[in-house]
Amino acid sequence: MECSLRQIASILKNAGSIVVTAHIHPDGDSLGSMLGLNQYLLSCGKSVQMVIDDDVPRRYEFLPGSKNIVQPQDITITPDLLVVLDASDIERIGAVNRISRVPILNIDHHISNTKFADYWYVNSNAAATGEIILDLLNMENVAINSEIATCLYTAIATDCGFFRYANTTAHTHGCAAQLIKCGVRPHVISEHMETKPLESLTRTLEVLKTLELFFDGKIAAVSIEHSNADSADSTEGLINYPRNIEGVEIAIMFTFADQNTARVSFRSRSVDVSALALTFGGGGHIRAAGCTVIGSKDEVKTKVIKAAAQLIGGKL
Ligand code: AMP
Ligand code: MN
Ligand code: MN
Repeated sequence: MECSLRQIASILKNAGSIVVTAHIHPDGDSLGSMLGLNQYLLSCGKSVQMVIDDDVPRRYEFLPGSKNIVQPQDITITPDLLVVLDASDIERIGAVNRISRVPILNIDHHISNTKFADYWYVNSNAAATGEIILDLLNMENVAINSEIATCLYTAIATDCGFFRYANTTAHTHGCAAQLIKCGVRPHVISEHMETKPLESLTRTLEVLKTLELFFDGKIAAVSIEHSNADSADSTEGLINYPRNIEGVEIAIMFTFADQNTARVSFRSRSVDVSALALTFGGGGHIRAAGCTVIGSKDEVKTKVIKAAAQLIGGKL
């Protein structure tokens, strides 16, 4: 059932025991939204557990409460509600999907959302799920402490490229202004995001060597081998290099996790790459999307680049 934000608030209030989760390969928005909502629910006296079927990347460990996020096998509560944040389909939450059948409430901002939940609030005009969580907390007149503010600011800032991407609106800036008044120090958050170990720079150099251009330079791709949580830490953001090349319409980053699986990220200047990702069972936003594709390295690259070329009318 599609819900208003007010209905979402009342469903949360009526639950006693809640598991909150977000998508695998967690990013600033999924983690920050989850941590911010968790603090609010705890303050309402709920029994809450935060779960992600993945490791929390090192660069997000500074977020207050991140140490309390557990993996699915460590859930100790019996929830009467599962809240799914920043995820557009049920596969995005991995094994959390397998916890005992409880109603699912989904809060999200992906245009590709499959409306898989029992209750959903999807606002694709929001730059981040964190923006929606802040709207919810404001509607409930919650006093936002500096910890909640840090989590929600990180959620919002990371999803809109620190207020540079096309999803940045006046409302996004309004949220940021409010959160700064609540105690956020933007430069501290940027420092956490930008400071990386030396190996990360070495890895960047390796990845940039894989750069390939196709279709008169309209498509640019980079490839990464054997990604794990640590290397994911150092490869986030690398897709911006091909994305920023003059004349590139679609940038693609292939991450070959094993012999037969690739995670694929898309960025575009204007065309709808969420539709492209959806054709491979993924999703996302108009200008930033992703999917997982099964096949050998060459097979994956060939079919993904072919599909991207069709989107921009490239000749095969
Ligand atoms: P990324 O390239 O991983 O930064 O993801 C870009 C956008 O696409 C984010 O909003 C993700 O939530 C979304 N996305 C990435 N991979 C998938 C997937 N396998 N299924 C659905 N959405 C995805
Ligand atoms: Mn996300
Ligand atoms: Mn998001």
